[in-house]
Amino acid sequence: MSHTSYRPETVALHAGQPVDGTMSRGVPVYRTSSYLFRNTEHAANLFALKELGNIYTRLMNPTTDVLEQRITQLEGGAASVALASGTSAIFYTIITLAEAGDNIVSANNLYGGTYTQFDSILPKLGINVTFVDPKDPSNFEKAINDKTRALYIETIGNPVLDYTDVRAIAEVAHRNGLPLIVDATFTTPYLLNTIELGADIVINSLTKWIGGHGAAIGGIITDAGRFDWKAGKHPLFTEPDSNYHGLRWAIDLPEPLAPIAFALRVRTVPLRNLGACISPDNSWMFIQGIETLPVRMIRHSENALKVAEHLKNHPKVAWVRYPGLKEDPSYALASRDLKNGFGGMVVFGVKGGYEASVKIIDTIRLFSHVANVGDAKSLILHPASTSHSQLTEEQRLQSALSSDLIRLSIGLEHIDDLIEALDEALAGV
Ligand SMILES: *Cc1c(COP(=O)(O)O)cnc(C)c1O
Repeated sequence: MSHTSYRPETVALHAGQPVDGTMSRGVPVYRTSSYLFRNTEHAANLFALKELGNIYTRLMNPTTDVLEQRITQLEGGAASVALASGTSAIFYTIITLAEAGDNIVSANNLYGGTYTQFDSILPKLGINVTFVDPKDPSNFEKAINDKTRALYIETIGNPVLDYTDVRAIAEVAHRNGLPLIVDATFTTPYLLNTIELGADIVINSLTKWIGGHGAAIGGIITDAGRFDWKAGKHPLFTEPDSNYHGLRWAIDLPEPLAPIAFALRVRTVPLRNLGACISPDNSWMFIQGIETLPVRMIRHSENALKVAEHLKNHPKVAWVRYPGLKEDPSYALASRDLKNGFGGMVVFGVKGGYEASVKIIDTIRLFSHVANVGDAKSLILHPASTSHSQLTEEQRLQSALSSDLIRLSIGLEHIDDLIEALDEALAGV
């Protein structure tokens, strides 16, 4: 796409697809493991990064390349790397910039799997994570030490959907010479321009709203392309890398590649050698999802707001959180940054606590009881007994996860059908 000022709705449909010799209108799926080298010089250039091109599908694939370019343009970044899952995208991001002895300062209100990765797996590899309450950005500043390599947040955090002040935390990060990593899964590039607010690395689980149909698992890392890895806090970028011919990523790359040193290191170090690559078929599926992402996010957000407003006034509901409710503690910040809607997630508690919540989940129709979010279909979950059951009681209290909390991922059904199903289940408790 040569025209650089297309709006997101147009980018979502057109970006990144070269029309090939077949004149195929749809993006073709390249089901191949490997690619022919023109000759030995071509092969050597590809391996030395003197020329960028296809080598092997673990590293890159033309279908996946369309996905990566489309997300890069939607996020307003410089380069993206798609991976087998959002979870592997998070892990590869961390190990690309931190090693044993290093520290990450992270928000404490994370997706359950990320929390376990940070709280129990990274420390066993020697990367220590300090958790802080993101509601006060100065908590990050206080926790930074001389081993800190990055700050980590989610745009809308679990479990109570607090909107995180990306801009304020980016300022803390940059003041301390650190990059800000943002998991933007709950907002998607359509609702929030995370890079414009200061994020240096954006992670999306493609599995959720971007795919949008609960049909595949995938993740993607987007490099904003402007963090200065030479500034002195990232020896992995300034000292010779034994994983890649002794290359110093922030110093030795030729000019056009220098800004995307982070994305290149993700691709050529963890992806190449640990191997959590995305399948081209899943990349193709996610491209179909992206094409309708803008219209879907508008409808997800409209339906979620109506559900939240309805629950707020329901006599059997104890409390409801949705960042788009005017009285929600997150509304002021969220409405400053989110221009196209507040997303598809609503959480609430029922009068009657744990027992009543479990009864709702066991009796409600239409809402699917699954450990997923971001499907076109409406979903329901009780995190305290499932996704967050590995947390200790203390961790649960710290992250405000009450035992009555019901999490809804509001789908694209007719709003009246959703409200009728909720009312019917609430009438039974
Ligand atoms: C689902 C999710 C992940 C993990 O992504 P997978 O694709 O399931 O591995 C990470 N962060 C958030 C916010 C998520 O919702």
